[in-house]
Amino acid sequence: MSIVQHYVNGAAFAGTSSRTAPVYNPAQGAVAREVALATKADLDLAVAAAKDALPGWAGTSLAKRQQIMFAFREAMNARKNELAAIITAEHGKVTSDALGEIARGLEVIELATSIPQLMKGEYSESVSTGVDVYSIKQPVGVVGIISPFNFPVMVPLWFFPLAIAAGNTVVLKPSEKDPSAAIWMAELFSEVGLPAGVFNVVNGDKESVDALLDNPDVAAISFVGSTPIAQYIYERGTANGKRVQALGGAKNHMLVLPDADLDLVADSAVNAGFGSAGERCMAISVVVAVEPVADELIAKVRERMATLKVGDGTRNCDMGPLITKEHRDKVAGYLEVAEQDGATIVVDGRGIEVDGAADGFWLGPTLIDKVPTSSRVYTEEIFGPVLSVVRVKSYDEGLALINASRFGNGTAIFTNDGGAARRFQNEVTVGMVGINVPIPVPVGYYSFGGWKDSLFGNAKAYGTQAIGFFTREKAVTSRWLDPSHGGINLGFPQN
Ligand code: NAD
Repeated sequence: MSIVQHYVNGAAFAGTSSRTAPVYNPAQGAVAREVALATKADLDLAVAAAKDALPGWAGTSLAKRQQIMFAFREAMNARKNELAAIITAEHGKVTSDALGEIARGLEVIELATSIPQLMKGEYSESVSTGVDVYSIKQPVGVVGIISPFNFPVMVPLWFFPLAIAAGNTVVLKPSEKDPSAAIWMAELFSEVGLPAGVFNVVNGDKESVDALLDNPDVAAISFVGSTPIAQYIYERGTANGKRVQALGGAKNHMLVLPDADLDLVADSAVNAGFGSAGERCMAISVVVAVEPVADELIAKVRERMATLKVGDGTRNCDMGPLITKEHRDKVAGYLEVAEQDGATIVVDGRGIEVDGAADGFWLGPTLIDKVPTSSRVYTEEIFGPVLSVVRVKSYDEGLALINASRFGNGTAIFTNDGGAARRFQNEVTVGMVGINVPIPVPVGYYSFGGWKDSLFGNAKAYGTQAIGFFTREKAVTSRWLDPSHGGINLGFPQN
């Protein structure tokens, strides 16, 4: 069985570990390959390669870095079908969705092609007589990126193109559940001219993550994953003196006001609840229906759910399998909790049979009504194709519910009342807000990130905030001496 290795200093690297983990084809429920799990020594070697490459890369002209970004963008776009097939084989999401994830990642490479513009500093002439002040942005150093399984291409792309364009070098530790896409991107980036050591990929688990967090030559960490791990990464990374952005889990609510277009709402709830089998941090997992709309809305959602085709992502289906058997069983376990807690299971995905793939990690689209807000089904992130409905009496009750959640990643309001929508965007304590848009993932030139337990640290991903995160600013105060100036003055310089 083949083993997915690491990519260090411009070449495949087998590493020194004998530990491996299985990588499944989730639609078949079978191990397709193994992935090497790096040791601390392997990780440190990758950091050393990144550190060695740093001065040369940071000193490479903006024009040259920009050209390499353009070449990478073109190569990724030209070969996106190949990459989508890798995503579907290891993650399970359907091909169209895999292509969608690549498209959203390409946006960030496109932003990175404008790095000369993004790296501009400021200049103030004559702040004092004969004195000018200006700022310059310099790379922060070696950047460590740790990414989750659910977007094996898009989430790494949220970070590494901008980090690299800004003159940093990178060590990426992708999810061990679907590691091949990251290696593929690293090879492609080298092919289009990225120097060796600038972008390294180390596969592994906690051992390599901890080594990244503890290595003194790593200056910054970008993490995306579940909330408990995000908090751990933030605390350990910052305790070691690094700057850390750690994006965590979510529980995204869709608030439906009685004046909303219920056909649009039903389409949106189904798309945002079951796309990628609900394994999206921006998936809608709770519909908050302001009465009297709930019964009519549920009928419309059920109708649409009945049309969804679940199956192998390569076979023109709407929804694929879950990532592993353990995760599938954990998600299915929430349906038992729902029953115990008195909720109504309207559509039960547990008994689903998928043609020709009995061992796949399947769970059909599931709809649960009247979910008590004290239930774990409501309070915890499920991360699967399970949509909950909570009924409320008013906008205010719905808003209070959303604001009481410990998560604050994304939310959406559906209404035809502009005043209500405007109030919502102002009052809701969530980082990304949709108005009649169910999954408000910001475009590349805005930044992505939640509030509360959905983001630790104060830098969001991509957009201009990324430039702040991946650079250090220097302010220079400069005077070219005029022979008439000089003399002793111990006072603080003024004007
Ligand atoms: P995860 O937290 O299990 O793993 C994320 C990364 O951390 C992986 O690379 C993994 O190897 C590593 N890791 C796991 N356990 C670790 C430990 N104990 N110590 C050190 N490193 C560890 O997350 P996942 O299951 O891969 O991804 C799903 C989660 O990611 C969901 O909670 C989802 O909401 C979240 N997510 C958030 C965003 C966002 O932008 N906020 C985006 C995508 C996914």
